[in-house]
Amino acid sequence: MQPKDTTTNEGFKGFTNTDCPFLPCHKGVQREFNCLFCYCPLIAYECPGPYEVYTDRNGLTRKDCSACILPHDGYFKSWNFIQRWLEYPVVWSGKPQTDPPVRRPKPPGQEGED
Ligand code: SF4
Repeated sequence: MQPKDTTTNEGFKGFTNTDCPFLPCHKGVQREFNCLFCYCPLIAYECPGPYEVYTDRNGLTRKDCSACILPHDGYFKSWNFIQRWLEYPVVWSGKPQTDPPVRRPKPPGQEGED
């Protein structure tokens, strides 16, 4: 087995679970539907959304990601999106989506630069 950073086979970047009864679970996906990030790795981190905020029955503030297709729209596109946003993850503030959305976090020491 090759490590993913040296293989030329990019099959690990996505798949579509055609047996899933919820497929397509998000409307508006134009490319291959990527199920790899069914549980989005950015749920606890700042992200560009779109998302709504709600309070669950335990009183916890959560994101409702029903309208977001970023982790699902194309195997390579969604893989690259997740990798970029996890590069310098910032824990989600628990606040509602902003307009414009938050910008992708930068390396420590470069946060204020454009
Ligand atoms: S809004 Fe999209 S990118 Fe953000 S946590 Fe939800 S599914 Fe992931």
